[in-house]
Order: sequence, then structure tokens, then C-alpha cells
Amino acid sequence: MVENAQPLADRVILVTGAGYGIGRTAALTYARAGATVILLGRTQEALNDTYDLIEAESLPQPAVLPFDLEESDEDKYRLLAEAIDENFGHLDGVLLNAGVLGQRAPLQTYHWETWQKVMQINVNGQFALIKHLLPLLQAAPADASVIFTSSSVGRQGRAYWGAYSVSKFATEGLMQVLADELENTSQVRVNSLNPGGTRTTMRAMAYPAEDPASVPEAEDIMPAYLYLMSPQSGDIHGQALNARDLAETLA
Ligand code: NAP
Repeated sequence: MVENAQPLADRVILVTGAGYGIGRTAALTYARAGATVILLGRTQEALNDTYDLIEAESLPQPAVLPFDLEESDEDKYRLLAEAIDENFGHLDGVLLNAGVLGQRAPLQTYHWETWQKVMQINVNGQFALIKHLLPLLQAAPADASVIFTSSSVGRQGRAYWGAYSVSKFATEGLMQVLADELENTSQVRVNSLNPGGTRTTMRAMAYPAEDPASVPEAEDIMPAYLYLMSPQSGDIHGQALNARDLAETLA
């Protein structure tokens, strides 16, 4: 069988946290697969750098969309979705990748403000985003894919991972509820992906004593991110997957 080198041709894909780490590599991967990528993140300069990487390879021109997921005014999310609607008319996929680590501390001393911030960005922001983007996903001409980003500590609680761990459990819950709501009623597929330890700024913050060279790069797990975003995974819905395992299966 000849593999389709451009499985995302003519598709519009939103990637959150596209300025750094896994999100940047995923945005570049999706653009190489033919997608027009909307780059969402907090830091405009970082998004511009990702834009330049995509432009340098003469790939479909991306769009830069600075947005802070700490925003708690729901109206801002509605306006964001309206802006995407005006420019693109629909969405074929969303990678909900942006997230923050918060503190590594026992619950007894965990800072209230940090807890609120992590839950706002990692859970509430994702909810508001997907709530307002759903009509655009449902307007996709073919199937559409939503990927939530989980973590090992979102599937098994671990001491000192505090709000981050709890927020990733909530992310799995969000994925399951949405997947069940869309089951048999929509062409929108919803899954969660745990990247596994990956060499990024967040990983270095979580494991300061670790040699970064010993941790796999984001590039290594991209086959899983591409497969799950593309029509090739059309029958996968409502599943909690591990990117490393999936990438190995696909190799
Ligand atoms: P990273 O390098 O720290 O990147 C996180 C991204 O999220 C950045 O682009 C950041 O942009 C964005 N972001 C953070 N707060 C935001 C906000 N308020 N509004 C908008 N964007 C915001 O982290 P990563 O390692 O690539 O992680 C990506 C995802 O994988 C996260 O959900 C993380 O929990 C998950 N994960 C990572 C690992 C790992 O080993 N790396 C393991 C398991 C799960 P700004 O800096 O501009 O805000």
C-alpha cells in the first residue's frame, strides 16, 4: 500500500501551545502533512518563531493566534471561535496541547493561587475552547479529530504532582464525556494522548536533575500525533492512548 504523504492536505488544524515544545513540533509535523495550522499560544514571539519554521519550508501558510488560556471570561473564547470561523469557516482538527506544570509540592503546602492557575489553564481553558470550537469542528467537510493531552499522572495519581496530576485526570474526564456525547451523532472523533517523558522545558522543570539528552525528543512521538489527527485513525474514538506505544506500533 502506498502511504499518503499528505494525509492532512487541505485541512485546518488548531494547535494550542504551538510556540514551544511538543506543540511546536506537532504544528510543523501537521504543516508538513499538508495542513494549514493555526498556532495558538500565550507568547507572540514564540508563535512567530514557529510560523517562520513553517514558512522556511514553503509549507501552507499558518496563522498566528496569541491567546492566554488563563483567561476566565467566556466571551473571549466565543470571540476567538468567531475569528477562526470568519477566516476559515471550519476546523478539521484541534490538538489541545498547552498546559502548565505548577508546583511540585505536597497537597498540604500547595499554594492556593497556583492550584487555581493550573486548573484554569489545564482544565477550564480547554473546556471553554472546545465548547466554542465544536460547531466549527462539526462543520468540517469530512471527519474531524480532537486530541486532548494527558500524562501518566493523569491516569495514576502520584505524590507531589498536585494540581497538574488532578488537572490531567480532569482532562481525561473531559475527553470521555465529550466522546460519549458525540458517539454515533457526529463525525468528530475525540481521544487523549499521553506523550510520555519528552525533552522540553516542562520536562526539565519537573526533573531538574535529569540529563535532557536521556529523554526522547518530541520528533520521536510525532507518528502518533499525526496518525491520531489524520483520517487514517478514523475508527479510533474515546480512547486514552500513549504516544510512545502508538508511535512504536506505527513504525
Ligand atoms: P512546554 O514546553 O512547557 O510547552 C507548553 C506550551 O503551553 C507552551 O507553548 C506554552 O506557551 C503553552 N501555554 C502555557 N500556558 C499557556 C496559557 N496560559 N495560554 C496559552 N498557552 C499556554 O511543555 P511540553 O512539554 O511541550 O508539554 C506539552 C503538553 O504535553 C502539556 O499539556 C504537558 O502537560 C504534556 N506532557 C508533557 C510531558 C513531557 O515530558 N514533556 C509529559 C507528559 C505530558 P507559552 O510559554 O507562550 O505560555
